[in-house]
Amino acid sequence: MALEQLLNRLKMDHLQASLDSLCEHASKQDLNYREFLEQALLQEWGGRHQKGLESRLKQARLPWIKTLEQFDFSFQPSIDHKIVRELAGLGFVERGENVVLLGPPGVGKTHLAVALAVKAAEAGHRVLFMTLDRLVSTLLRARQENRLDRQLQQLTYPKVLVLDEMGYLPMTREEASLFFRLINRRYERASTILTSNKSFMDWGEIFGDQVIATAILDRLLHHSTTLNIKGESYRLKDKRRAGLVTTPTTKEEETSLAPDSVPMSSD
Ligand code: ADP
Ligand code: MG
Repeated sequence: MALEQLLNRLKMDHLQASLDSLCEHASKQDLNYREFLEQALLQEWGGRHQKGLESRLKQARLPWIKTLEQFDFSFQPSIDHKIVRELAGLGFVERGENVVLLGPPGVGKTHLAVALAVKAAEAGHRVLFMTLDRLVSTLLRARQENRLDRQLQQLTYPKVLVLDEMGYLPMTREEASLFFRLINRRYERASTILTSNKSFMDWGEIFGDQVIATAILDRLLHHSTTLNIKGESYRLKDKRRAGLVTTPTTKEEETSLAPDSVPMSSD
């Protein structure tokens, strides 16, 4: 069988595409057989990895791509750099633990959540990003259409589920109980990264029911890391510097939050 045909059958598209330049490179560099084989397989592997990553990132539906390297930690001294580094190691994903990012608007909650999700996708994990708002409407629609169970099951597949912006809109009791069912399904199986502008004390208000709020917090925080970001909005920093806004600006930004960044693991 000819080489082209073999590569075709073996589905080595990336190697096939760069075969000529690889051979040229090998002869210029005087590579031995072993080195050449290594380069050739590396080319195929690299191409597959990149394609896989692109497809995982597409499926993740991130609002934008931001990385941890793009995050200016000096602007947000309340964040313990060590904790973020530890999270970036993705041990929490392996262990199915959660991350809760709390803080007023603009302090980088979504940025950090997205950056961790990108890291997880790079490591080969399936990732999904949803605003709380979209999650709730997705679950409500699924219930209406009698396919809630299947929908909940689908939402347990991603190894990392980012739920962004909890607390902007209060939930009805029905919505809160749907949310609880999802958290319960994912509990100890897969990681959820949640961002909220409300402190844990205010969760009763969000869910309209203290009992459900307690049950949700119980599952969510059992194995989890909470980062409580206290600081200025990054969005407003330039405006503030120019004297266009005074500190603090909105009621939301005055929201008092629970204690400092604390890694929580109750066992
Ligand atoms: P939040 O979700 O807390 O409201 P975002 O994560 O959306 O805030 O941040 C608002 C914008 O500011 C984003 O474009 C984000 O990338 C940027 N940003 C926030 N904090 C930082 C930071 N410390 N370093 C770099 N960019 C930041
Ligand atoms: Mg946000």
